Amino acid sequence: MTVASESKIRISEIFGPTIQGEGHLIGQPTVFVRTGGCDFRCEWCDTLYAVDSEFKSQWKLYSAEEILQQVEILSQAPLLITLSGGNPALQPLGSLLEQGHNAGYQFSIETQGSVAKNWFSQLDHLVLSPKPPSSGMTNDWLQVNKCLELATTAEKVFKIVVKDEVDYQLAKEVHKLYPTYPITLQACNTHHKTSHNLDNILQRQRWLTERVCEDHWYQARVLPQLHTLLWGNTSGR
Ligand code: SF4
Repeated sequence: MTVASESKIRISEIFGPTIQGEGHLIGQPTVFVRTGGCDFRCEWCDTLYAVDSEFKSQWKLYSAEEILQQVEILSQAPLLITLSGGNPALQPLGSLLEQGHNAGYQFSIETQGSVAKNWFSQLDHLVLSPKPPSSGMTNDWLQVNKCLELATTAEKVFKIVVKDEVDYQLAKEVHKLYPTYPITLQACNTHHKTSHNLDNILQRQRWLTERVCEDHWYQARVLPQLHTLLWGNTSGR
C-alpha cells in the first residue's frame, strides 16, 4: 500500500439526503457515508455488501475532499453526516471530520466499539452498538471504554439490537455498566436474507416493547428501524 492510498478512505456507498432510520437521531435528515470493511461478521448483518470482501470490487478509495464534494452535491447545504459501515472506525476519517466541520457539517458515527481512534475527539455524536450474543460476536469492553474516553465532546449513546431474551439480558448488562448514557433498543431485523417480512419485524418490536414495560425499565427507549418499515431491506436508504 502506498502512502497516498493509506490516507484514502474505503467507501461502499454515499447516499442521501434521507432520514436517519434508527437510534436516538431517528427522523433527522442526513447523508450517509458508508465505509467498506468490518472487523466483525455478525450472524444477521444487514449490510454485508459493506462488510464482506466478496463485495470489495464495488468499494472505492476516496480522499476526504472527494467524499465531502459528493456530500455537498447531494445535500446542497450543511447537515448531519452519518458515518456508517461496515465499521467506519477502521478508516482514517480525521481529515474528513475537520474539513466537514469547516464547511458547517456535523458528524455522527455508528460503530460496535471494537476500534477506538484519536479522531473520535472530533465527533458530534458517538453511537456505540456492542453486539448481543445472537450476533455470534464477542465485545471488547476495554475498547468500548476507550471509544467513550476519546469522544470527549460528542454526545455518547448506546444502541443495542435485540433478537431474543438472551440479547435483552445483554442490553440490561450494558445499561448497568454504563448507566449515565442513553440507551436505545431495536428489534433485530433477521429477514433481510429472504424478503422484507413486516409482520415478523413488527411482532419482535411488540415483544421488545412489552418486555421493557413489564420490566419497568423506563430509561430504555424502544425504536424500530424506520427505513426498513418505509422501504424494506434495500441499500441506499
Ligand atoms: S458490526 Fe455491523 S457492519 Fe459489522 S458485521 Fe456486525 S452488523 Fe455488520
